[in-house]
Amino acid sequence: MKTLLAFLFALSTAIPAIAQQSLDAMVDREIASLVTTYKMLHAAPELSHHEEKTSAFLAAQLRALGYTVTEHIGKYDRSDWQGFGVVAVLKNGDGPTVLVRTDLDALPVEEKTGLPYASTVKTKNDVGQDVGVMHACGHDIHITNMIGTAKMLAQLKDQWHGTLILLGQPAEETIDGANAMLADGLYTRFPKPDFTIALHDSSDVEAGKVTYYPGYAMASSTSVDVIVRGVGGHGSKPEATKDPIVMAAQIIMALQTIISRENSPLDPAVVTVGSIHGGTKRNIIPDEVVLQLTIRTYKEEVRQRILTSLDRITRGVAMAAGLPDNRMPIVKLINNEMAPATYNDPQLTERVVAAIGRTIGSDNVIKASPLMGSEDFGNLSLDHKIPSLMFWLGAVEPAKVEASRKSGKPLPSLHSSLFAPLPEPTLRTGVKAMTAAVLELMKK
Ligand SMILES: [Zn+2]
Ligand SMILES: [Zn+2]
Repeated sequence: MKTLLAFLFALSTAIPAIAQQSLDAMVDREIASLVTTYKMLHAAPELSHHEEKTSAFLAAQLRALGYTVTEHIGKYDRSDWQGFGVVAVLKNGDGPTVLVRTDLDALPVEEKTGLPYASTVKTKNDVGQDVGVMHACGHDIHITNMIGTAKMLAQLKDQWHGTLILLGQPAEETIDGANAMLADGLYTRFPKPDFTIALHDSSDVEAGKVTYYPGYAMASSTSVDVIVRGVGGHGSKPEATKDPIVMAAQIIMALQTIISRENSPLDPAVVTVGSIHGGTKRNIIPDEVVLQLTIRTYKEEVRQRILTSLDRITRGVAMAAGLPDNRMPIVKLINNEMAPATYNDPQLTERVVAAIGRTIGSDNVIKASPLMGSEDFGNLSLDHKIPSLMFWLGAVEPAKVEASRKSGKPLPSLHSSLFAPLPEPTLRTGVKAMTAAVLELMKK
């Protein structure tokens, strides 16, 4: 009896070790082909709303692995944009429904990495300008990682049960792709998930590591245009005008007090005026000036308070300038350029992070700091109703991270023309981490 118990105990501890060995071996077998796929995707980036070939490639790969794949999901306000969303479903008996998301799009950046597989793609953007195109945010890492994870999970079907949904989301950089897919019936045409998970590569964490943050991990993003209206006229005759350039300058300075004087220092928030346009000539006082703002917050109530302050301050400046009621500034929310905060469900985070730690070594899984950057992944959680997690995947050569820490010289960031993830160790870690995450949530 004693020997039987000892044998059973030995067996129960040996099973995860065997599973781990087999996952390592499985990733070893695939890694060369994944790196080839990555380099191919890297050299062929497509802009947001135009992910035609990328989505078709992902769809074909997942279909070949036995997933039931639907393409062309996504409805935008603009009729000339097509939805290039991909949904791949693998049903494996009763059990939880888990959604894993990758984004598909690249950026209007001309690549300067000098890599042999660097992108040389040039295209016209939506306003007709010639632009270079680059996967400068590493969404090609995410797509390749999904293909690798899809392969692992198709082969490991005896270890999990439920419905696995792999989602290829277009237009993340313009933060309207997740909503476009929801508007096209993502959760009515396909099973609604119990959990949603995603990863994003990190430009300051070494390859081989994963970082995470429980709770609010990324901020909401709100885009606002302010049209400051004046009364134009001759530059030599200010007394006959109401100058919107001076008002715009006052508004920009007054907006600085929202964060410094009205907001609690314990509630992170940012108000940035990123663009100001007005006037045509030195001696003309124009009729209007347009400001473009981005607002970042974690909490919804903070976002609402900032928007109220923005209204009050812009109106206040216009009133002080003596403008009539019908020339008050217009504050316009740009609805298709908004994203909610990314909230990592703490319980889900703890569970998944522990599983990733068991797979890649707990020393390689590190709690990081939250960011004020934004993502539209949060839309898929339907206002935190579906527990969600996005974790970060280290993508930089360890020696470069070390050198940057020593010298204090920052590494090329995401969206930089010099951002160059180290493909092999990044994908090796990413595939293992995402496979472990899904197996944890769907294990038998
Ligand atoms: Zn990006
Ligand atoms: Zn990104």
